[in-house]
Amino acid sequence: MKRILALILAISLLTGLSACTMQGTVPKTETTQYPTTTAPTDPTGTVPATDEPDPIPTETDSPADDEALIRWQNGGFRDYRDDVPVDMVAFAEMEYVRPDTEALYAAFDALIEDAGDSDDFEALLTDYYAAYDRYLSFYSMDTIANLRHSLDTTDSYYAEEYDWCEAESPNVEEKLETLYKALAAGPARTDLETAYFGEGFFETYDDYEVYTNETFLAFSKQEKEILSEYRELTADPDGSFDTDAVTDCFIRMVKVRKQMAEALDYDSYAAYAYDVTYGRDYTTEEGSAFLDEIRTEIVPILNELLSSDQLYGLYGVYTMRVSEQEVDRMVQSAAQNIGGAVYDAFRFMKRYDLCDIHQDAKKLDGSFETYIYDYESPFVMVNATGDYSDYTTFAHEFGHFTDGFYNYGANEDLETAETFSQAMEFLALQYTDTLSDEQKSGLTKLQIIDQLQAFITQAAFAKFEEEVYQLPDEELTPERVNGVFMQVCVDYGFVDEAEKEYYASYWTNVLHFFEVPFYVIAYCVSADNALQVCRLETEHTGDGVDAYFRILDRDHEARVQQFMTDAGLENPFREGGVRESADFIREQLGLKP
Ligand SMILES: [Zn+2]
Repeated sequence: MKRILALILAISLLTGLSACTMQGTVPKTETTQYPTTTAPTDPTGTVPATDEPDPIPTETDSPADDEALIRWQNGGFRDYRDDVPVDMVAFAEMEYVRPDTEALYAAFDALIEDAGDSDDFEALLTDYYAAYDRYLSFYSMDTIANLRHSLDTTDSYYAEEYDWCEAESPNVEEKLETLYKALAAGPARTDLETAYFGEGFFETYDDYEVYTNETFLAFSKQEKEILSEYRELTADPDGSFDTDAVTDCFIRMVKVRKQMAEALDYDSYAAYAYDVTYGRDYTTEEGSAFLDEIRTEIVPILNELLSSDQLYGLYGVYTMRVSEQEVDRMVQSAAQNIGGAVYDAFRFMKRYDLCDIHQDAKKLDGSFETYIYDYESPFVMVNATGDYSDYTTFAHEFGHFTDGFYNYGANEDLETAETFSQAMEFLALQYTDTLSDEQKSGLTKLQIIDQLQAFITQAAFAKFEEEVYQLPDEELTPERVNGVFMQVCVDYGFVDEAEKEYYASYWTNVLHFFEVPFYVIAYCVSADNALQVCRLETEHTGDGVDAYFRILDRDHEARVQQFMTDAGLENPFREGGVRESADFIREQLGLKP
């Protein structure tokens, strides 16, 4: 039995690769995919039937409570609108119409032309608000099409509409960027900043080298070409692809990316990505040292766990079958007991049918949370699997939902976004009344093992990227790249010397390396953040929840270090921080410090 669990743990370390991606100016769908390891069947062959208890009666909401559920048109990205409530309807009533991109482009083009010579900032702003409304509505339709398609992949209408929107979105982004550049170069620039955009807003668009450096642009174009080649190679819906061809794409991509960074005088592509792509407030040196600390402090826990008897006790929860009603009741009860904005978010979600956790072969696998701007509403999609992981998956996405609800869809970076979801997984298990103490303790351990797994795999992947991009061009060969991967897998403890060859090219399955280079380290940073919240809760009941409310109430300009310290929490890059997380993980898993 222990061997089975050890094996599953090892497999899930290697399959738990795909996680959230966030890209684009307007934060788009943020996806979490959980490893879909099949639970071993009960050795006795019997699967206990789950009886489905009645839902928890929701107390009648008082009118005062209801006010917390009103969404304001000017609450989020449309902050230029009046203080008027959004006309809310349930998800099924939200109308999809194909966005009128012709009208959208016409509105942008007219404004781009005016921006060059008009100093009438008030008139420019009025037109800008109208154009930006269209921009957000475009993404609202894109999101609704995506959701309807995800909820029923056999519906060809929404599949086509979603494809259509996705194909159009780069053009929409380009219009917005062109407009900002035109406004930055126009005579009304200062007035526009004073009246609406804020001081310094247009600096990003000032002869910004990224947009004007010809050498950079030429390499950037090459990168996009290789990227579309990669997408074609991996487009097969059954997931199979030519590993050698994908490896070749990756190597060419790394070479081109290094030249992009060089064209802008960055010391490395990593430094370029940290600064330009992600706008991080930590340096590549800090990132690298953080990864090394994970290797020395966190990785040994894996072996301690596998050689302890702690996994034996988890077999019961690992193999339990769970109904959707039980999952729903678990999160509802937790939200109710946590209260405040968390319970408001839950009630809002239920009132307008903004979640779907039903298990359905027609639905997309996995789970995600997204945001519909026209309704200022988050939405959660989970395709339940029927096992214990549904509890944490729904709690995770509900954490994103709560943040989306409270912060009106503001989504700065993954380091902050994933703090809400990962911490909610833990808090929900502590606060629910629907599980027995034994179930809570078992599920909490499994959740901590998940965190441990995220920490280790993502750190290994981040290390892989760091090392590959440091190789001189002549050493960038398939053998060398595979060699780097095998070494980090061994260093980070999830593959041993004997089996490393088998996994040598496994990295070609990790989408992030191609689509969002140097992104994965963010998962390690958010894991550390979330563990801080969990630790506070275990030290003193209520302290973790208080911290959760403090991080919810965040400054949208803040990056991860300030995000944490503003809330009175520790900087994730503090000296000895990773060791504190390691101690907490050991304590939770019943391992000796
Ligand atoms: Zn997530």
